[in-house]
Amino acid sequence: MKIRVIGAGLAGCEAAWQAARAGVEVELWEMKPQKYSPAHHSPGFAELICSNSLKAERVDSAAGLLKEEMRRLDSLLMQCADLCRVPAGGALAVDRHAFSAAVTKAIRGNPLIQICNEEVTELPTDGIHVVATGPLTSDALAGQIAALCGGCLSF
Ligand SMILES: Cc1cc2nc3c(=O)[nH]c(=O)nc-3n(C[C@H](O)[C@H](O)[C@H](O)COP(=O)(O)OP(=O)(O)OC[C@H]3O[C@@H](n4cnc5c(N)ncnc54)[C@H](O)[C@@H]3O)c2cc1C
Repeated sequence: MKIRVIGAGLAGCEAAWQAARAGVEVELWEMKPQKYSPAHHSPGFAELICSNSLKAERVDSAAGLLKEEMRRLDSLLMQCADLCRVPAGGALAVDRHAFSAAVTKAIRGNPLIQICNEEVTELPTDGIHVVATGPLTSDALAGQIAALCGGCLSF
């Protein structure tokens, strides 16, 4: 079995990693560096485009509980975040460049994950796909998703 993950941002990298961990082959499609959204600038995966904070660590907060659950599920993003953390009081903040580099290295080094550096402009109709193109999905694909949902997408 092979699945296709579209977008090598935070969600797409974690999805690809977890599928590969389960022994599934993955094609990971990422439009960078051929094409960049207005906010993405680096060719690396899992690019944090604004704050470098992954929010509170306390497990009695929603963000902290989610992170703890992800750690228990062997999350790649959490492993990389813990490795690249910088002081931020009660929050988990990371060095964004080191974080992206660590995620990129792990994804590129996984023999079950094949990287395809190309923009996906049409929603695939066959097989299993994870669409993880985020809030700045490129126009062609965003238009297709909007049509599928029966209207406009707004974030
Ligand atoms: C301007 C801005 C500021 C933000 N600031 C914050 C913040 O401070 N804190 C916070 O928690 N969240 C913030 N967010 C939300 C933030 O985007 C998410 O937290 C996080 O990046 C979402 O991860 P993601 O994997 O869904 O998307 P992304 O990290 O955006 O990853 C999507 C990936 O898909 C790729 N892609 C897009 N379209 C295609 C296509 N058609 N084909 C192939 N590849 C494609 C992109 O190049 C990108 O690499 C912000 C969002 C925006 C737009």
